[in-house]
Amino acid sequence: MFVCGIFGIASRSLENVSSIIVDGLKKLEYRGYDSVGIATVHDGKIYVRKGAGKISLLENKLDLRSLPGRVGIGHTRWATHGVPNDVNSHPHVDCTGSIALVHNGIIENYLELKEQLLAKGHRFISDTDTEVIVHLIEDFVKNEESFFNAFKRALQVLKGSFALAIITTRQPDTIFFARKHSPLIIGLGDGANYVSSDIPAFLEYTNKVIVLNDGDFGYITNSKVYIENIEKGKVNVSSR
Ligand code: GLU
Repeated sequence: MFVCGIFGIASRSLENVSSIIVDGLKKLEYRGYDSVGIATVHDGKIYVRKGAGKISLLENKLDLRSLPGRVGIGHTRWATHGVPNDVNSHPHVDCTGSIALVHNGIIENYLELKEQLLAKGHRFISDTDTEVIVHLIEDFVKNEESFFNAFKRALQVLKGSFALAIITTRQPDTIFFARKHSPLIIGLGDGANYVSSDIPAFLEYTNKVIVLNDGDFGYITNSKVYIENIEKGKVNVSSR
């Protein structure tokens, strides 16, 4: 059984969420992992720091607590495709450096998708199954008017299991998420919302939780939660 951790924060006022993400990832350490990484979005730019190893060592080596921004995602990886090394660590970014993504699970049709995306000119740098997702979204973004629609199109193509958290410079206040056969929950805070694999990561800040169902996807900002389900369409958030 593979496991790992995802923890993201969309905050209104915290200038530097990366430090809270480091603390949150430490609370998900019990799930097991081999690598760690964080991405934030700030002033039209995506910042990524990541590497193989334990959080307690990497937080100083990579200065993980100093990434700028009020919106960010973090990941602890349990490698399934590609050895545990710095390049294969999540987050993964698209060719333009404007989308960063973390993933828990396995993309079963990644080889086929990778071939198609390579033929279209996308550049891959890791050996992971995960990297296809970020290039796939990038590809749909070229043709879709909104990032959310491009994200939705990409989800329809993916086979396998996934919990996903994604940030983009196109919508810098937002974290997009999805889950299928991998756990993911939403935390509702005051001036901040959270996406996480499990409650301990944000329990210090809120105990209001939305447990996502299989096939749920959507986005959070510091004040909004929007959820759709692949099969059932728009979800009434207050009913959860
Ligand atoms: N399959 C992905 C990888 O090997 C994600 C692994 C995980 O769930 O941490 O990078």
